[in-house]
Amino acid sequence: MKDIRTLSLDQLKDYFGTIGEKPFRAKQVYDWIWSKNLHSFEEMTNLSKNLREHLIRDFVMNPAAVDQFQKSTDGTIKNGVKLHDGLMVESVLIPTETRTTACVSSQVGCSLNCEFCATAKLKRMRNLEVAEIVDQVALIDRQSKEYYNRPLTNIVFMGMGEPMMNYKNVVEAIKKITQPEGLGMSPRRITVSTSGIPKMIKMLADDELRVKLALSLHSAIESTRNEIMPFSDKFPLTDIMEALQYWYKKTGSVITFEYCVWKGINDKDEDIKALIKYCRQVPSKVNLIQYNPIGEGKFDHRSVAAEEKYVRELEKAGVTVMVRKSRGGDIDAACGQLANKTAE
Ligand code: SAH
Repeated sequence: MKDIRTLSLDQLKDYFGTIGEKPFRAKQVYDWIWSKNLHSFEEMTNLSKNLREHLIRDFVMNPAAVDQFQKSTDGTIKNGVKLHDGLMVESVLIPTETRTTACVSSQVGCSLNCEFCATAKLKRMRNLEVAEIVDQVALIDRQSKEYYNRPLTNIVFMGMGEPMMNYKNVVEAIKKITQPEGLGMSPRRITVSTSGIPKMIKMLADDELRVKLALSLHSAIESTRNEIMPFSDKFPLTDIMEALQYWYKKTGSVITFEYCVWKGINDKDEDIKALIKYCRQVPSKVNLIQYNPIGEGKFDHRSVAAEEKYVRELEKAGVTVMVRKSRGGDIDAACGQLANKTAE
Protein backbone atom coordinates (compact mmCIF):
# COMPACT_ATOMS: atom_id res chain seq x y z
CA MET A 1 0.00 0.00 0.00
CA LYS A 2 1.06 3.55 -0.71
CA ASP A 3 2.57 5.76 1.97
CA ILE A 4 0.35 8.83 2.13
CA ARG A 5 3.44 10.96 2.58
CA THR A 6 4.56 10.34 -0.99
CA LEU A 7 1.56 12.42 -2.18
CA SER A 8 1.76 16.14 -2.86
CA LEU A 9 -0.94 18.46 -1.56
CA ASP A 10 -2.54 18.52 -5.02
CA GLN A 11 -2.52 14.75 -5.23
CA LEU A 12 -4.16 14.60 -1.81
CA LYS A 13 -6.85 16.99 -3.01
CA ASP A 14 -7.47 14.77 -6.01
CA TYR A 15 -7.75 11.76 -3.73
CA PHE A 16 -10.32 13.45 -1.52
CA GLY A 17 -12.23 14.41 -4.66
CA THR A 18 -12.45 10.78 -5.72
CA ILE A 19 -13.95 9.77 -2.39
CA GLY A 20 -16.44 12.63 -2.44
CA GLU A 21 -14.76 14.81 0.18
CA LYS A 22 -14.05 18.53 0.12
CA PRO A 23 -10.54 19.65 -0.89
CA PHE A 24 -9.93 21.43 2.45
CA ARG A 25 -9.66 17.97 4.01
CA ALA A 26 -6.44 17.56 2.09
CA LYS A 27 -4.94 20.56 3.85
CA GLN A 28 -6.03 19.21 7.23
CA VAL A 29 -4.37 15.87 6.62
CA TYR A 30 -1.31 17.54 5.12
CA ASP A 31 -0.91 19.62 8.29
CA TRP A 32 -1.11 16.58 10.54
CA ILE A 33 1.52 14.84 8.49
CA TRP A 34 3.96 17.62 7.74
CA SER A 35 3.44 20.20 10.47
CA LYS A 36 2.77 17.94 13.42
CA ASN A 37 4.74 14.92 12.21
CA LEU A 38 1.86 12.68 13.20
CA HIS A 39 2.21 9.04 12.27
CA SER A 40 -1.25 7.65 12.87
CA PHE A 41 -4.56 8.34 11.16
CA GLU A 42 -6.46 7.61 14.38
CA GLU A 43 -5.06 10.75 15.98
CA MET A 44 -6.30 13.09 13.26
CA THR A 45 -9.02 14.37 15.54
CA ASN A 46 -10.59 16.91 13.21
CA LEU A 47 -11.57 14.17 10.74
CA SER A 48 -14.69 12.05 11.09
CA LYS A 49 -14.26 8.45 12.17
CA ASN A 50 -15.55 7.39 8.81
CA LEU A 51 -12.94 9.43 6.97
CA ARG A 52 -10.14 8.18 9.19
CA GLU A 53 -11.19 4.61 8.43
CA HIS A 54 -11.16 5.42 4.74
CA LEU A 55 -7.60 6.66 4.99
CA ILE A 56 -6.53 3.59 6.95
CA ARG A 57 -7.97 1.39 4.18
CA ASP A 58 -6.23 3.31 1.40
CA PHE A 59 -2.85 4.31 2.81
CA VAL A 60 -0.09 3.49 5.20
CA MET A 61 2.43 5.67 6.98
CA ASN A 62 5.92 4.31 7.40
CA PRO A 63 7.64 6.41 10.02
CA ALA A 64 11.39 6.24 10.40
CA ALA A 65 11.85 5.27 14.03
CA VAL A 66 14.67 5.12 16.54
CA ASP A 67 15.86 1.54 16.74
CA GLN A 68 19.11 2.04 18.57
CA PHE A 69 19.90 4.82 21.00
CA GLN A 70 23.31 5.74 22.38
CA LYS A 71 24.22 8.72 24.54
CA SER A 72 27.80 9.93 24.70
CA THR A 73 29.50 11.18 27.84
CA ASP A 74 29.51 14.63 26.20
CA GLY A 75 25.74 14.57 25.74
CA THR A 76 25.75 13.70 22.04
CA ILE A 77 22.99 11.25 21.12
CA LYS A 78 23.37 8.85 18.22
CA ASN A 79 20.24 7.26 16.84
CA GLY A 80 20.19 4.23 14.65
CA VAL A 81 17.03 4.97 12.68
CA LYS A 82 15.19 2.11 11.05
CA LEU A 83 13.44 2.66 7.72
CA HIS A 84 10.38 0.83 6.44
CA ASP A 85 12.46 -1.62 4.39
CA GLY A 86 14.65 -2.52 7.35
CA LEU A 87 17.64 -0.43 6.24
CA MET A 88 19.23 1.86 8.79
CA VAL A 89 20.62 5.36 8.82
CA GLU A 90 22.13 7.35 11.62
CA SER A 91 20.98 10.69 12.98
CA VAL A 92 22.89 12.54 15.65
CA LEU A 93 21.87 15.16 18.20
CA ILE A 94 24.71 17.45 19.20
CA PRO A 95 24.07 19.72 22.19
CA THR A 96 26.21 22.73 23.09
CA GLU A 97 25.63 25.44 25.70
CA THR A 98 23.39 27.41 23.42
CA ARG A 99 22.30 25.14 20.59
CA THR A 100 21.06 21.74 19.68
CA THR A 101 22.15 20.60 16.26
CA ALA A 102 20.70 17.68 14.34
CA CYS A 103 23.13 15.94 12.04
CA VAL A 104 20.94 14.10 9.54
CA SER A 105 21.49 11.58 6.77
CA SER A 106 20.43 12.01 3.17
CA GLN A 107 21.21 8.54 1.79
CA VAL A 108 21.59 5.00 3.06
CA GLY A 109 25.32 4.58 2.59
CA CYS A 110 27.10 6.82 0.09
CA SER A 111 28.18 6.55 -3.53
CA LEU A 112 31.27 8.68 -3.05
CA ASN A 113 34.52 7.08 -2.01
CA CYS A 114 36.32 9.38 0.41
CA GLU A 115 39.03 7.16 1.83
CA PHE A 116 38.84 8.64 5.30
CA CYS A 117 35.08 8.23 5.78
CA ALA A 118 33.40 5.20 7.31
CA THR A 119 30.12 5.77 5.45
CA ALA A 120 31.93 5.36 2.12
CA LYS A 121 32.64 1.75 3.04
CA LEU A 122 28.90 1.02 2.98
CA LYS A 123 28.34 1.92 -0.69
CA ARG A 124 25.14 3.62 -1.60
CA MET A 125 22.04 1.53 -0.98
CA ARG A 126 19.36 4.08 -1.79
CA ASN A 127 18.26 7.67 -1.46
CA LEU A 128 16.17 8.68 1.52
CA GLU A 129 12.60 9.75 0.88
CA VAL A 130 11.38 13.21 1.87
CA ALA A 131 9.47 11.83 4.86
CA GLU A 132 12.51 9.88 6.05
CA ILE A 133 14.56 13.07 6.17
CA VAL A 134 11.80 15.05 7.88
CA ASP A 135 11.28 12.24 10.41
CA GLN A 136 14.93 12.38 11.46
CA VAL A 137 14.60 16.10 12.14
CA ALA A 138 11.30 15.73 13.99
CA LEU A 139 12.58 12.92 16.18
CA ILE A 140 15.69 14.86 17.14
CA ASP A 141 13.54 17.89 17.90
CA ARG A 142 11.53 15.70 20.28
CA GLN A 143 14.71 14.33 21.85
CA SER A 144 16.07 17.84 22.27
CA LYS A 145 12.95 18.84 24.19
CA GLU A 146 13.01 15.65 26.23
CA TYR A 147 16.70 15.64 27.18
CA TYR A 148 17.66 19.29 26.98
CA ASN A 149 14.38 21.17 27.50
CA ARG A 150 14.65 23.17 24.35
CA PRO A 151 13.76 22.73 20.70
CA LEU A 152 16.20 21.94 17.97
CA THR A 153 18.07 25.03 16.77
CA ASN A 154 20.24 23.88 13.84
CA ILE A 155 20.38 21.19 11.20
CA VAL A 156 23.41 19.98 9.28
CA PHE A 157 23.25 17.57 6.37
CA MET A 158 26.47 15.93 7.48
CA GLY A 159 25.24 12.47 8.33
CA MET A 160 25.38 9.59 5.92
CA GLY A 161 25.32 10.28 2.22
CA GLU A 162 25.91 13.08 -0.22
CA PRO A 163 22.92 15.46 -0.11
CA MET A 164 23.58 16.71 -3.64
CA MET A 165 23.13 13.16 -4.96
CA ASN A 166 19.63 13.08 -3.49
CA TYR A 167 18.94 16.63 -4.46
CA LYS A 168 15.22 16.61 -5.11
CA ASN A 169 14.25 14.95 -1.84
CA VAL A 170 16.68 16.98 0.24
CA VAL A 171 15.29 20.23 -1.16
CA GLU A 172 11.70 19.10 -0.65
CA ALA A 173 12.51 18.05 2.93
CA ILE A 174 14.10 21.44 3.63
CA LYS A 175 10.94 23.12 2.35
CA LYS A 176 8.85 21.02 4.71
CA ILE A 177 11.16 21.67 7.67
CA THR A 178 11.16 25.42 7.13
CA GLN A 179 7.46 25.95 6.48
CA PRO A 180 6.02 28.22 9.18
CA GLU A 181 3.18 25.86 10.05
CA GLY A 182 5.63 23.05 10.75
CA LEU A 183 8.92 23.13 12.63
CA GLY A 184 9.34 26.60 11.20
CA MET A 185 13.10 26.26 11.20
CA SER A 186 14.90 29.22 9.66
CA PRO A 187 16.81 28.14 6.55
CA ARG A 188 19.77 30.15 7.84
CA ARG A 189 20.11 27.50 10.53
CA ILE A 190 20.35 24.68 8.03
CA THR A 191 23.68 23.72 6.45
CA VAL A 192 24.00 21.51 3.42
CA SER A 193 27.43 19.92 3.30
CA THR A 194 28.77 18.62 0.02
CA SER A 195 31.88 16.99 -1.28
CA GLY A 196 31.62 19.35 -4.21
CA ILE A 197 29.48 18.73 -7.27
CA PRO A 198 29.63 22.04 -9.16
CA LYS A 199 26.42 21.68 -11.17
CA MET A 200 24.41 20.91 -8.04
CA ILE A 201 25.92 23.76 -6.04
CA LYS A 202 24.69 26.12 -8.74
CA MET A 203 21.28 24.52 -8.74
CA LEU A 204 20.99 24.95 -4.98
CA ALA A 205 21.92 28.60 -5.40
CA ASP A 206 19.25 29.03 -8.07
CA ASP A 207 16.61 27.37 -5.91
CA GLU A 208 16.92 30.21 -3.39
CA LEU A 209 16.36 28.15 -0.28
CA ARG A 210 18.54 30.50 1.78
CA VAL A 211 20.38 27.63 3.46
CA LYS A 212 24.09 27.66 4.21
CA LEU A 213 26.66 25.74 2.26
CA ALA A 214 29.68 23.80 3.48
CA LEU A 215 32.24 22.25 1.20
CA SER A 216 34.38 19.31 2.28
CA LEU A 217 37.70 20.38 0.88
CA HIS A 218 40.49 18.63 2.81
CA SER A 219 43.05 19.67 0.23
CA ALA A 220 43.32 22.56 -2.21
CA ILE A 221 45.92 20.67 -4.20
CA GLU A 222 44.17 18.80 -6.99
CA SER A 223 46.34 15.67 -6.97
CA THR A 224 46.14 15.26 -3.20
CA ARG A 225 42.41 15.78 -3.15
CA ASN A 226 41.89 13.27 -5.95
CA GLU A 227 43.92 10.74 -4.06
CA ILE A 228 41.91 10.92 -0.84
CA MET A 229 38.54 11.70 -2.48
CA PRO A 230 38.87 9.70 -5.72
CA PHE A 231 35.46 10.61 -7.17
CA SER A 232 36.58 14.23 -7.29
CA ASP A 233 38.75 13.71 -10.37
CA LYS A 234 35.53 14.38 -12.27
CA PHE A 235 35.16 17.72 -10.52
CA PRO A 236 38.27 19.91 -10.80
CA LEU A 237 38.86 22.44 -8.02
CA THR A 238 38.56 25.30 -10.51
CA ASP A 239 35.05 24.16 -11.48
CA ILE A 240 34.12 23.89 -7.83
CA MET A 241 35.44 27.39 -7.19
CA GLU A 242 33.48 28.74 -10.12
CA ALA A 243 30.32 27.18 -8.64
CA LEU A 244 31.11 28.60 -5.20
CA GLN A 245 31.56 32.08 -6.63
CA TYR A 246 28.25 31.67 -8.39
CA TRP A 247 26.73 30.55 -5.08
CA TYR A 248 28.02 33.64 -3.29
CA LYS A 249 26.90 35.98 -6.03
CA LYS A 250 23.39 34.55 -5.94
CA THR A 251 22.94 34.06 -2.19
CA GLY A 252 25.39 36.38 -0.44
CA SER A 253 26.02 33.53 1.95
CA VAL A 254 29.57 32.82 3.13
CA ILE A 255 30.90 29.33 2.41
CA THR A 256 32.42 27.07 5.05
CA PHE A 257 35.33 24.88 4.01
CA GLU A 258 35.65 21.70 6.04
CA TYR A 259 39.17 20.49 6.39
CA CYS A 260 41.03 17.79 8.31
CA VAL A 261 44.78 17.91 8.76
CA TRP A 262 46.58 14.59 8.38
CA LYS A 263 50.23 13.91 8.96
CA GLY A 264 52.00 13.09 5.72
CA ILE A 265 48.99 13.98 3.58
CA ASN A 266 48.29 17.69 3.88
CA ASP A 267 50.57 18.95 6.64
CA LYS A 268 53.16 20.77 4.55
CA ASP A 269 53.61 24.49 3.95
CA GLU A 270 52.53 24.12 0.33
CA ASP A 271 49.23 22.60 1.49
CA ILE A 272 48.58 25.61 3.71
CA LYS A 273 49.54 28.02 0.93
CA ALA A 274 47.23 26.27 -1.52
CA LEU A 275 44.33 26.45 0.95
CA ILE A 276 44.87 30.16 1.56
CA LYS A 277 45.04 30.86 -2.14
CA TYR A 278 41.92 28.81 -2.79
CA CYS A 279 39.65 30.15 -0.10
CA ARG A 280 40.59 33.75 -0.72
CA GLN A 281 38.81 33.52 -4.05
CA VAL A 282 35.39 33.57 -2.41
CA PRO A 283 33.99 34.91 0.89
CA SER A 284 34.50 31.94 3.16
CA LYS A 285 35.74 30.56 6.43
CA VAL A 286 37.61 27.41 7.29
CA ASN A 287 36.50 24.82 9.82
CA LEU A 288 39.36 22.61 10.87
CA ILE A 289 37.69 19.36 11.86
CA GLN A 290 39.37 16.94 14.12
CA TYR A 291 39.79 13.64 12.32
CA ASN A 292 37.90 10.73 13.81
CA PRO A 293 39.80 7.54 13.23
CA ILE A 294 38.02 4.82 11.30
CA GLY A 295 40.88 2.33 11.18
CA GLU A 296 42.35 3.50 7.89
CA GLY A 297 46.04 3.51 8.83
CA LYS A 298 47.26 6.28 6.59
CA PHE A 299 44.92 8.86 8.10
CA ASP A 300 45.38 7.89 11.70
CA HIS A 301 48.19 10.26 12.53
CA ARG A 302 47.17 13.61 13.80
CA SER A 303 49.65 16.45 13.64
CA VAL A 304 48.82 19.03 16.27
CA ALA A 305 51.81 21.10 15.21
CA ALA A 306 50.55 21.24 11.63
CA GLU A 307 47.04 22.13 12.80
CA GLU A 308 48.44 24.99 14.82
CA LYS A 309 50.44 26.14 11.86
CA TYR A 310 47.32 26.11 9.69
CA VAL A 311 45.52 28.29 12.22
CA ARG A 312 48.43 30.73 12.48
CA GLU A 313 48.94 31.04 8.74
CA LEU A 314 45.25 31.31 7.91
CA GLU A 315 44.76 34.02 10.52
CA LYS A 316 47.81 35.86 9.27
CA ALA A 317 46.31 35.77 5.78
CA GLY A 318 43.05 37.20 7.12
CA VAL A 319 41.04 33.99 6.69
CA THR A 320 38.52 33.17 9.41
CA VAL A 321 39.36 29.79 10.87
CA MET A 322 37.70 27.72 13.55
CA VAL A 323 38.88 24.56 15.16
CA ARG A 324 35.95 22.25 15.63
CA LYS A 325 36.13 19.84 18.49
CA SER A 326 34.93 16.36 17.78
CA ARG A 327 31.77 15.24 19.54
CA GLY A 328 30.36 11.84 20.33
CA GLY A 329 33.57 9.98 19.47
CA ASP A 330 33.06 7.43 22.25
CA ILE A 331 29.88 6.19 20.55
CA ASP A 332 31.13 6.48 16.94
CA ALA A 333 28.77 9.38 16.34
CA ALA A 334 31.42 11.77 15.11
CA CYS A 335 31.91 12.97 11.52
CA GLY A 336 32.85 10.16 9.20
CA GLN A 337 32.14 7.48 11.78
CA LEU A 338 28.56 6.81 10.79
CA ALA A 339 28.59 3.30 9.46
CA ASN A 340 25.89 1.31 11.16
CA LYS A 341 28.44 -0.35 13.38
CA THR A 342 25.74 -1.20 15.89
CA ALA A 343 23.78 -3.07 13.23
CA GLU A 344 26.59 -5.38 12.22
N1 SAH B 1 28.85 13.98 1.81
C1 SAH B 1 28.79 15.23 2.49
C2 SAH B 1 28.23 15.17 3.89
C3 SAH B 1 28.66 14.05 4.82
S1 SAH B 1 30.25 14.07 5.55
C4 SAH B 1 30.14 15.89 2.49
O1 SAH B 1 31.10 15.26 2.06
O2 SAH B 1 30.25 17.04 2.87
C5 SAH B 1 30.33 15.34 6.73
C6 SAH B 1 31.76 15.86 6.95
O3 SAH B 1 32.57 14.91 7.68
C7 SAH B 1 32.50 16.11 5.66
O4 SAH B 1 33.17 17.33 5.72
C8 SAH B 1 33.50 14.97 5.60
O5 SAH B 1 34.59 15.27 4.81
C9 SAH B 1 33.84 14.81 7.06
N2 SAH B 1 34.43 13.52 7.41
C10 SAH B 1 34.31 12.34 6.78
N3 SAH B 1 34.99 11.38 7.43
C11 SAH B 1 35.55 11.97 8.50
C12 SAH B 1 36.35 11.49 9.59
N4 SAH B 1 36.68 10.22 9.70
N5 SAH B 1 36.73 12.39 10.52
C13 SAH B 1 36.37 13.68 10.45
N6 SAH B 1 35.60 14.19 9.46
C14 SAH B 1 35.21 13.35 8.50
